[in-house]
Amino acid sequence: MSDLHSQTVVVGAGVVGLACAAALAKAGREVLMLERNQGIGEEVSSRNSEVIHAGIYYPPGSLKAELCVRGKHRLYQYCEERGIATRRLGKLIVAASEDELETIERLRRRGLENGVSDLQWLSSKEARTLEPELVCLGALYSPSTGIVDSHGLMLGLQADLEANGGQICFLSDVHLIRADQSPIALEVNNQGKALWVEANEVVNSAGLGAVDLAHHTLGLKTEKLPEAKFSKGNYFRLNGKTPFSRLIYPAPVPGGLGIHLALDLSGNARFGPDVEKACGAHESLKVDPSRVKDFYRSIRRYWPGLKPGMLSPDYAGIRPKISVSGSAQTDFKILGPGDHGVPGMVHCLGIESPGLTSCLAIADEVINRLTPDASKS
Ligand SMILES: Cc1cc2nc3c(=O)[nH]c(=O)nc-3n(C[C@H](O)[C@H](O)[C@H](O)COP(=O)(O)OP(=O)(O)OC[C@H]3O[C@@H](n4cnc5c(N)ncnc54)[C@H](O)[C@@H]3O)c2cc1C
Repeated sequence: MSDLHSQTVVVGAGVVGLACAAALAKAGREVLMLERNQGIGEEVSSRNSEVIHAGIYYPPGSLKAELCVRGKHRLYQYCEERGIATRRLGKLIVAASEDELETIERLRRRGLENGVSDLQWLSSKEARTLEPELVCLGALYSPSTGIVDSHGLMLGLQADLEANGGQICFLSDVHLIRADQSPIALEVNNQGKALWVEANEVVNSAGLGAVDLAHHTLGLKTEKLPEAKFSKGNYFRLNGKTPFSRLIYPAPVPGGLGIHLALDLSGNARFGPDVEKACGAHESLKVDPSRVKDFYRSIRRYWPGLKPGMLSPDYAGIRPKISVSGSAQTDFKILGPGDHGVPGMVHCLGIESPGLTSCLAIADEVINRLTPDASKS
């Protein structure tokens, strides 16, 4: 016996869940969101660089490549229509060694294959004309990279959801999904009270909790679900005014994009995220001040003018990564009925960067997988 019924339930009110819920409500569904915290976007979606990525880094043909490039265009357009702040600051990916010149040349070719056709090679002199304090052997300039007000974006999506009759139920932690029955039933802990919610469709967009929830879904006909892996990313803020007006990225490192300079909409600068491996989903979000040494070393490779005392610990975020049989999976995994055999259910797993950029395209993909015929019409 259920306490509540909704045609569609979306678990997790981060930017991805909100984008899915808003799109589903706009498509005419009755949508209920279940969120364990007391507000929207309190986890990964509020602890990132707020960068709208161009789509350069990801292997051609991957979901990340496809959804990032599509998501970027959709996001700029959506934000413009809704009056949500974005700035196309542009970004320089800089090479500090001959090897890195080759790395960023490979990135240029990869970006082109992904449909990012506006990338430009800059000599060291040209890069310094744009950013006089920058030191590099050469750089790749991406004019379509920008920043977005991620909280404004989430509020806009929530408003869209509610305008189409959708609702969010906060302090509702989903423990179990019974997909071995129809309708699907979700067991929810709502402020200490156990509730059962029934739904014809369920989207699992639970971020750091998504893999765990997929493992607690009865009735999935799949051999191997991915395992969750988490990696912490720490940021340090720059005290005082930044000499840079664009985003500056080094060549990427395994597990992350390298300690880059990100700017917020007020023009404040912060550096990060680094890669602190093997943490848990509930790792402390405090930044260990002793990590600053690595930050100075990395940043001075492209900004030798960084002086002692200019960095202070800022915030940290956790990346929801996945692996299968011990091997790291670098692409998003969006599992629909074709993957697990349960009609009306989609699990969004491993939605790390560029998940913010891709959120609107992920929502389209989720709807396509829920209703495979919709994509053909
Ligand atoms: C350090 C860092 C930097 C990043 N930088 C960028 C960037 O610059 N650009 C970019 O495009 N992307 C970036 N990303 C990635 C981006 O932030 C994420 O892909 C995106 O925010 C994921 O959104 P989400 O909705 O899937 O997850 P979340 O925002 O974590 O939302 C999931 C929600 O589910 C809820 N939840 C979890 N389990 C349950 C449960 N069992 N029951 C009910 N609710 C539950 C949580 O409370 C949470 O609110 C970055 C990520 C990190 C960690």
